[in-house]
Amino acid sequence: MAARVLIVDSISANRILLKVKLAGAFAQVEQAASAGEALDLLENEVTPDLLVLGGDLVDMSAIELCSVIKKRPELANLPVLLVHTDGHRTDLIDALRMGAEDAFDMSVSTDALLARIRSIVRARNSFEELRLRESTGHIPGLAETAAALDSPASVLIAARNETEGARWQAQLSKLAPFALRHQMEADIMRNMGQFTAPDAIIISLAVAAPEEALRLLAEIRARAATRQAAVLVVLDENDDTARINALDLGANDVIAEGFHAEEAVLRLDKMIARKRLTDRLRQKVEDGLTASVTDPLTGLFNRRYAMPHLDNMAQRATGHSDQTGDFAVMLADLDHFKEVNDKYGHAAGDIVLAEIARRMRANIKSADLIARMGGEEFLVVVQTDNRESAAKVAQRLCDVVRAEPVYLRGRDIQIPVTVSIGVAMGSDMLEAKKAKFGGGEDSLASALIDQADQALYGAKADGRDKILLSFTAA
Ligand code: GH3
Ligand code: MG
Ligand code: MG
Repeated sequence: MAARVLIVDSISANRILLKVKLAGAFAQVEQAASAGEALDLLENEVTPDLLVLGGDLVDMSAIELCSVIKKRPELANLPVLLVHTDGHRTDLIDALRMGAEDAFDMSVSTDALLARIRSIVRARNSFEELRLRESTGHIPGLAETAAALDSPASVLIAARNETEGARWQAQLSKLAPFALRHQMEADIMRNMGQFTAPDAIIISLAVAAPEEALRLLAEIRARAATRQAAVLVVLDENDDTARINALDLGANDVIAEGFHAEEAVLRLDKMIARKRLTDRLRQKVEDGLTASVTDPLTGLFNRRYAMPHLDNMAQRATGHSDQTGDFAVMLADLDHFKEVNDKYGHAAGDIVLAEIARRMRANIKSADLIARMGGEEFLVVVQTDNRESAAKVAQRLCDVVRAEPVYLRGRDIQIPVTVSIGVAMGSDMLEAKKAKFGGGEDSLASALIDQADQALYGAKADGRDKILLSFTAA
């Protein structure tokens, strides 16, 4: 956990005590002796990953400082932890209400404090990582997202018994507009396969018998369908081991001294806001990734996606001595396409390209790959055991392109199109590799494409509108 922490306390003995607790966990520990000094550092130095506020500040209370920080947009996402000299429940609730991640009294064990900090830093890191990958600009803060919560959050109470589930649900429903339901932990476990994840899950954990709750937590974190759900674990009594286990198994937060509805709502609000923000960010990153590997004109994959994909397939095939995993690589190039552009214009050419892409896509299996390599050239990779079936697929593609002219609706024009296709077999390439690329670092994908390209050249030379199979180059 190479992170930076800023400790704020006016009593130097307290700062040292905190520093000792946090040493080892943080690469850099900085200190401030007052709220003013802390704000100054935050304004002028690199923002830390965590702010730890002691209870004794000369110029304002820790809770006031927390609220000042949370009101500053540039600092609103900075996690704040309060470590009081004597923590009362009202202090905890106030701290949570002011936007602190958590509050402890000074007697908290180092292990428990560090486990909580690990969970906070983990959440922050995964968020920051997404944020770095998402480069389109504006990222809303937590407060903004909370305000923009579109639908009520769905919250599932994983209870130890029916009475508990019903009671917690009744108490929560008075305080927050969550879409609540409760279920027995054992039942949730049994139906994990069909489980649609809510925004948040509250897991009840009995310190005397924590196994079932911890198993459920681990299961939630292990499954793709539930991994993103926010999890709040409620301990029936304060216990360091249970708290540490829950946090380290992936709980986002823990209530340590029995269920308390107000505390639960404050913690849930925060977890859910972060979860939704992270979800949105992840979606944006995924959309961005899709865009970066897709050709906008045809909707097919682009070269950037196709090359490593083909390389992987080739690598996998090289690993097998038998030829059961053989595949065909086809390069398809439209014939005299320049004439289409010259005669009908570039825009008409684009429509033709999109339509031909659609036809070819519709005539291969969904597991096969088709990509636009650039211009009017397409790559098709088909899983097939032998040359004959590869030739059949290629011929089918050639036929569907020729079968009907492309119709330009607006202009009522029919444009006849044909394509030439060069085909290379994966197994040929393995032979060729031994002969020509033996031990070399040449990418298998480009070697395959070269072979298909030679065959394509042959098909063009032979009059176009036809397919040609490449034979072993060796
Ligand atoms: P050949 O049968 O030998 O392949 O002849 P060709 O005219 O298709 O070959 P050439 O490579 O000379 O021309 C390809 C043309 O494809 C040139 C370019 O105008 C056109 N082209 C490439 N990309 C696009 C595109 O995105 N949109 C349109 N409309 N035309 C494109
Ligand atoms: Mg062409
Ligand atoms: Mg071309």
